[in-house]
Amino acid sequence: MRSEDKILKDISKTLELHRTSRAGFTPEEEQKSKEKIKALRTELNSVITEGAVSCPACGLPPIGIHQPGSAIRSSFYEIGCRGQDKNPEDNSQHLRAIGISRKNAIDNWNEGEYWLKPQIA
Ligand SMILES: [Zn+2]
Repeated sequence: MRSEDKILKDISKTLELHRTSRAGFTPEEEQKSKEKIKALRTELNSVITEGAVSCPACGLPPIGIHQPGSAIRSSFYEIGCRGQDKNPEDNSQHLRAIGISRKNAIDNWNEGEYWLKPQIA
């Protein structure tokens, strides 16, 4: 399995190429380029979520994001369920766990230590 950094570099290279060449793409080339970006994002996701159990609420495999740091906070990993995307009306299925490292986030997810975003009524 490739490293997260290596995949990220590939994603930004592919996105840049897509942006700069899109005007000259045939529809097939544009489709191919989009598929490549999608495949890289899927690869990145499987690297980040490696070892994570499926969502206990709906059984979907979780998705993982490495949130970049900023001036006011350090970077963190987020493992979450896509259930909400499938059913935007139902926030109850939107589980997620965070951690300062990938392993930390996976452990929290697997142990049911969820981070619940406050809901605004
Ligand atoms: Zn779920």
